[in-house]
Amino acid sequence: MIPRIALIAHDKKKDDMIALAGEYVDFLRRCALTATGTTGGRLVNELGLAVERKHSGPFGGDLQIGALLVEGCIDAVIFLRDPMTPQPHEPDINALVRACDVHNVACATNVATAHLVLSQLEAAMAGPEATPT
Ligand code: PGA
Repeated sequence: MIPRIALIAHDKKKDDMIALAGEYVDFLRRCALTATGTTGGRLVNELGLAVERKHSGPFGGDLQIGALLVEGCIDAVIFLRDPMTPQPHEPDINALVRACDVHNVACATNVATAHLVLSQLEAAMAGPEATPT
């Protein structure tokens, strides 16, 4: 089954997202990717990934991804939040993270956790013979 992954990064975390996605680019090419508008644009332009782009986060993109997730269409969320900058769409951010908890969908909100989630999904896709012993 193809992993369906949502990718979102706040402005000060977008470079981190590009670096992270670059490390997993071969795996991500084999996934179904959804992203908020600006994050998705960078993933397309800088890494050549195929991404379904939603609205920008402050214009409802987080909520669009949340709705997909509630419908069972997202397997994991990589959401690199900026904890140091107030966001105008804080309620939307909280709604998305809450929806992940309600529906038990993996949600990585920092790079360290994102590595764990992506490496695990990559290993699961590769199959048991590829898992290190
Ligand atoms: P963006 O949205 O990718 O359009 O910047 C992310 C966000 O701020 O939630």
